[in-house]
Amino acid sequence: MTRDARQDVVFEPSPEIPVVWEGDLCVIGGSCTGVFAAVRAARLGLRVAVVENHTIFGGMATAARVNEWHSTYDVGNQNQIIAGLTMEMVQRLTKRDAVIERARHERTQYVLDPAALALELDLLIRENAVRPFLAARCVGGKREGGVVRAAFIEDKSGRRALRARFFIDASGDGDLLRRVGFEAYQNEQLQPVNLQAVVAGFPELSGPELSEVIQKNAEKFGYPSANSTPWAGRLPGMPELRNVFGPRMNGVDASDADQLTEALMASRRSFRNFGDMVGSVGGSNLRVVAWAQALGVRETWHARCLHQLTGRELLEGVKFTDSIACGKYPIDIHSETGTSLRYLDGREESIAPDGTGAWSRWREESLSPTCYHVPYRALVPRGAENLLVAGRLVDADREAFGAVRVMVNCNQMGEAAGVASALALRDGRAVADVNAKEIRETLIAGELRIGDIRGVVDWGHDDYDCIEFGRSDPQAGSDGASAGEPATARDVAE
Ligand SMILES: Cc1cc2nc3c(=O)[nH]c(=O)nc-3n(C[C@H](O)[C@H](O)[C@H](O)COP(=O)(O)OP(=O)(O)OC[C@H]3O[C@@H](n4cnc5c(N)ncnc54)[C@H](O)[C@@H]3O)c2cc1C
Repeated sequence: MTRDARQDVVFEPSPEIPVVWEGDLCVIGGSCTGVFAAVRAARLGLRVAVVENHTIFGGMATAARVNEWHSTYDVGNQNQIIAGLTMEMVQRLTKRDAVIERARHERTQYVLDPAALALELDLLIRENAVRPFLAARCVGGKREGGVVRAAFIEDKSGRRALRARFFIDASGDGDLLRRVGFEAYQNEQLQPVNLQAVVAGFPELSGPELSEVIQKNAEKFGYPSANSTPWAGRLPGMPELRNVFGPRMNGVDASDADQLTEALMASRRSFRNFGDMVGSVGGSNLRVVAWAQALGVRETWHARCLHQLTGRELLEGVKFTDSIACGKYPIDIHSETGTSLRYLDGREESIAPDGTGAWSRWREESLSPTCYHVPYRALVPRGAENLLVAGRLVDADREAFGAVRVMVNCNQMGEAAGVASALALRDGRAVADVNAKEIRETLIAGELRIGDIRGVVDWGHDDYDCIEFGRSDPQAGSDGASAGEPATARDVAE
């Protein structure tokens, strides 16, 4: 974090920070990514704490009301490739009538009740004896070489320290990673932010009809006209209400406090302007019932890790020797010039700024992997001994991130980071030296699936660190893994 040389400063006396918790694993950020990491590690016997900035767990899914989980099936909807704590949570929500399932829908499979999800996460944390810190923000940490010794939090009680043998940064913004000085970067052109709200009286107009109202009236009502049609989702058990995704706001870095403040206030104004606009054409009497607690943020920072996942690797279905998660959600990039979705089967969907859509193909059908993979290496920050990242912080280029950023993928990364931390502590190893095959086997024993890993070879192999879709590996055993020395992220990266 750099400071402008001209900036006025005051000096705070160096405080002694009380250590209020000490354990094996401290997770920063309590979305499902962070909570699932914590729970996985706790189930493997670790003493775990999770620190969450907001008053509820769940991150984007609850505080920002982004309430849709995408398909857990592969391309063609034949095989379920994602399970684990994602499905455990779906089952809990189903018992409370708090989820709508769209069976085998190509994109969205589950529409969640954010309030119920937040409560289930509380319960999951309690059942697994994880120590929760809510309304607590990580503001830094103590690092010696590659080892993080403590995380500093600020909460109602003041500044406090949590000491742990291992840390996972699932804050999305890298608030531990960056503040203790590990490398992070931003992709050019961050994906836009949106604010969500619970709304009554949303107009009964189709998407194209709404886009037309916006194109004709936006300027008069001070409403953004480019790629700004709000999207009204449903809420389980609340047919009279809509969970509305507000207009996309481009060029906002939500890790910058002033930009965040401005975006929140401008987004709230835009809901009123939208209501006035549709009201003026007799569309409805729109009322905001509740604002989301947090701005919806798609992207800020990425950790510089042992591997950057690329769009090419993703679209070609490269199977990494250290695959720990997989998915099929398309590369979905929102910008001022519209939204583009690239599917693994070669289709491309383009949505213009005025809301009109068109389908085309971006590649011939011959190469169509059934899913893509996320390697463990993309969660291992360079130079770190006892720190992993998970979720939005994954090392991924703009294209790859457009796909892996969705929650069913982030959830798996969280679980993998939790398992990896337990294995690292058990064996006294650094993060880069954990055996990937064992991470995967432990994940699968805990009901995660990780798609089709047949054909994946071990890391110790000289010739490969990954195989590409369509190639076969003659040395692979029946379970997809060849025999050999235990292999680690360090072997592959070096
Ligand atoms: C408008 C919009 C629509 C989207 N639609 C979908 C969709 O339909 N389906 C889908 O799957 N994905 C969707 N996404 C993407 C998805 O929501 C995110 O990519 C995903 O939630 C990222 O998960 P995460 O755990 O990495 O980050 P987050 O969910 O952002 O979680 C990070 C957590 O860390 C906490 N935190 C941050 N800093 C600190 C700190 N210093 N100390 C303590 N805690 C901290 C935050 O409060 C938060 O709880 C959408 C995103 C947006 C913005």
